Amino acid sequence: MELDIEGIVIRQTPYKEKDAIVNVFTSQGIATFYARSILALTSKNASSCLMYAYSRFLLSSHGDKLLLRKGELIDSFYNNYESIEKMTCLGVMSEVVFKIAGEDDGRLYAFFLKILNLLKNNFDILTLLCIFLAKAINYSGYALQYEECIQCSSKKNIVAVDYNLGGFVCKKCLKTKEVENNLYLKIFRYVFKVDIQDIDKNILNKSICMRLIKEFLAYLKAKFGFYNFASETMFFEIFK
Ligand SMILES: [Zn+2]
Repeated sequence: MELDIEGIVIRQTPYKEKDAIVNVFTSQGIATFYARSILALTSKNASSCLMYAYSRFLLSSHGDKLLLRKGELIDSFYNNYESIEKMTCLGVMSEVVFKIAGEDDGRLYAFFLKILNLLKNNFDILTLLCIFLAKAINYSGYALQYEECIQCSSKKNIVAVDYNLGGFVCKKCLKTKEVENNLYLKIFRYVFKVDIQDIDKNILNKSICMRLIKEFLAYLKAKFGFYNFASETMFFEIFK
């Protein structure tokens, strides 16, 4: 059986001498296939299987495994390789996808592809990562409430975010946490709400983005029971 897929390479694991196992994020989730000899210098399929390459793949099934027959590069997003900041951001995004995306319905995939394009055009990295993590949370089954109080459904006097309860909390329902500043609450709401075509309309406050990225990763780890994201340490080292 043959299979034609299109997607973004989010992991490449060397296997035997010159082979690799490639994981591709597609609009239907993650596809995994074996790519023979792609680590050889003469391989015609190598460029299509590079990290964060956006490619089309022709696969054939052998038993329960998929083998790469032909890879065709659509866009390598090559200039993203020149920036350690961009690569670190993509590293966090890929790991989150790898660990939580499962059978994506195409929504998170669309954001990943859009973000690759915006990074290529040097749009603000932290804004994009913050939005991506908010979308990953809200498509994960552990969505946070960003329109009204999680306790009483009031839309008035929202004063904090309680991750244990699951989102916004109003003044009346606030128990232990302190009242947050308005900009934090505004940006929290924005990153969950923003439509894909508008994600490059605003550059968000850097320190609030950093705080939200930290909180979102902690929330995902808690909900999915991960001890850590390997890419996180590097990210916070570079963006401190
Ligand atoms: Zn309330």
